Amino acid sequence: MCTSLYCKSDALPDVPYDLSCSACARVVWYTAGLFHFLAMDDRTLFHKIRDHEIPATIVFEDDEVMAFKDIHPKATTHLLFIAKKDQDFVPSIADLTEATAHVPLLLIRKAQRFAKEQGIDGYKLTFHVGKGGGQEVFYLHLHFLSEQKTGV
Ligand code: AMP
Repeated sequence: MCTSLYCKSDALPDVPYDLSCSACARVVWYTAGLFHFLAMDDRTLFHKIRDHEIPATIVFEDDEVMAFKDIHPKATTHLLFIAKKDQDFVPSIADLTEATAHVPLLLIRKAQRFAKEQGIDGYKLTFHVGKGGGQEVFYLHLHFLSEQKTGV
């Protein structure tokens, strides 16, 4: 007997859905679609912050770079700088290629300019590299830490 809520048709005892039933077929179709969608979405948390799908406190954004507050700050000011363009995406420093070698410098230059604009003259810049290096999110990001406050 088919176990679907609206289905009255008989099915093989060990098969939960009878595909000859339109209600069952729809359930199987939607479930398969959902699994397919989830498997396709290999974007990281920072892709979703970049695309404004997940909220973050954004303190700087231009065409190339976004900076937002770290949700678990390790200093008075703890920001994360990421490159925005898809062609600049790289999971980690360990994955840099000729095509993405400019990205760390891009992030450093934006952080430097941001600090200057905010009147911050002392800060640390860090890349965590790989799980062994403490990296949790595999979307290259520059940690900006300072005991000085920003105005944003
Ligand atoms: P890492 O360990 O270098 O991969 O750094 C990832 C950082 O992302 C950690 O410092 C986390 O606190 C931070 N983080 C995780 N989730 C969020 C979030 N939703 N918004 C802002 N920062 C986050």
